Amino acid sequence: MNYAELRDDFSWEKVVKTYDWNVHEKLNIAHECCDRWADDPNRIAIYWEDEKGNKDVWTYFRLKEQSNRMANALRSLGVKRGDRVAGLLGKDMELILTVLATWKIGAIYVPMFTAFGPEAITYRLKDADCKILVTNQEQAKKIEGQQVSCELLLTDGLSGNGLTFWEFIQQFPAEHETESTTMMDPSVIQYTSGSTGMPKGAVWAHKIFISTYPYLRYAMGMENNDRFMGGADMGWAYGLMNCTICPLSLGISIVVYKGPFQVEKYYQLLEQYKVTNFAYAPTAYRMMMAAGSDLVKKYSLKVKQFSSAGEPLNAEVVRFFKDNFGREIYDHYGSTETGMIVNNYNVTDMMVKPGSMGLPAPGYNIALLDEQGYPVEVGEAGQIAVDIHAFPYFFLGYWNDPKKTAEKITGNWFWTGDLASKDNDGYFWFQGRADDIISSAGYRIGPFEVESTLLEHPAVAEAAVIGKPDPVKGEIVKAYVVLKSSHKSSSELADELSVFVKAKLSKHQYPREVEFVETLPKTPSGKIQRYILKQSLETANK
Ligand code: ATP
Ligand code: MG
Repeated sequence: MNYAELRDDFSWEKVVKTYDWNVHEKLNIAHECCDRWADDPNRIAIYWEDEKGNKDVWTYFRLKEQSNRMANALRSLGVKRGDRVAGLLGKDMELILTVLATWKIGAIYVPMFTAFGPEAITYRLKDADCKILVTNQEQAKKIEGQQVSCELLLTDGLSGNGLTFWEFIQQFPAEHETESTTMMDPSVIQYTSGSTGMPKGAVWAHKIFISTYPYLRYAMGMENNDRFMGGADMGWAYGLMNCTICPLSLGISIVVYKGPFQVEKYYQLLEQYKVTNFAYAPTAYRMMMAAGSDLVKKYSLKVKQFSSAGEPLNAEVVRFFKDNFGREIYDHYGSTETGMIVNNYNVTDMMVKPGSMGLPAPGYNIALLDEQGYPVEVGEAGQIAVDIHAFPYFFLGYWNDPKKTAEKITGNWFWTGDLASKDNDGYFWFQGRADDIISSAGYRIGPFEVESTLLEHPAVAEAAVIGKPDPVKGEIVKAYVVLKSSHKSSSELADELSVFVKAKLSKHQYPREVEFVETLPKTPSGKIQRYILKQSLETANK
């Protein structure tokens, strides 16, 4: 199949018919991603493993029963339809059960990161007015003494009634009737990553998994007998929906690994579980590249599709995968509010252009607009905007913040805040976030291209580029560079990197300042926070 065929052939009616989804009257993610597959008692949903080597295998049947018990347990704790249930755990089965159980009772799930500190946790608990927080003792300690009114349900140790979590939920029946939600009922309040400032609570409708289905099928390229593993944490949109819950809507088996990302460990898991589809964020792929080719050769992998999302994927990394795995990584673009809307399609024979995030998702209407809201010409940068009237749009607005929601929408368009250009073939090229664009001596410079060029230098492991205020040029390009462990910083190397970029890009795009750092500021999901680098410059200048 080629991309044009995919788009021509595609209709939402067809997608909805695939599984006889009853979109207007009764649609609940928990049913679609769990219960509907449970009739076959042997169908495996999840291969679970943790850092210590503990393993477990979960059939859909077991997942259904245990999430039913959990749903009944939540009801007994007074949680009702529309209430908010927060989850703060690593990739534990208890967390997956919590998510499913929350939907089964028609409540709204609020994901959290275990890497969060006390403020981040209490901010979300209060903002979403959560009724209950499912967590463990270690995490619960972080909010001791904080003014939060929600109840805690601990998954380790003994709870107040002297029972462990598993003993507690076994007291409740394995039968439960899932609430009859519709596709527009709220399912999740997902806080954005906070790359540009305070995270916003995006409310998703149950419909989100319908919009994710074609993404999984065509962009990730998942087929019925595939074995999928996604590395992203369940605290953010990509990890929760695209990497964990929604793949289950295809009835396939997924691998859930609870442990930190380490290149070699991940290669081992991919080999051991014969994973066919793998998805993670660019930062992980960059680490795989930095670990080198020799390590790749030690493993015999069956992965046929690599997918990446969350940040721009540098062309150099795509080429490394082509050279070492015989296949490019397919870059996918999206956001918490919009879902995955521009992708490279694993299931088509489309040519991957390294550095491009691909073509618009079938069924979506996506434009590149100038500041007045008019489409830009081919080759020019415009803001990515999504038509909110297209069927797959599932964003219900920011929680309790209609003003912020309204700021992002004009007429038919949701403005993503990201700039991209289109080439003659219709491929999208990411330029940077509108806020991150550097304005130097009349030129508008996207940080991504400069960062990607730096990454082509053999000494560089990671780079972040920002505009530094300059009395003459307005701003100059400043690069923060993390070196590979095999290289040492020096002023000669800094100069060399400047010259390297200048020769490859242009004389206005190169970094006039290069600063070596040990790490870059990142969101807990691993996204570079350029605004923190900018703030640190401002503070230093005061
Ligand atoms: P916040 O909205 O709180 O500042 P965030 O925008 O990073 O944080 P997410 O919704 O998790 O929160 O991320 C979406 C953003 O990530 C996009 O708007 C875009 O800037 C970036 N992004 C995602 N995928 C890609 C990609 N493939 N290429 C380039 N950028 C990407
Ligand atoms: Mg955002």
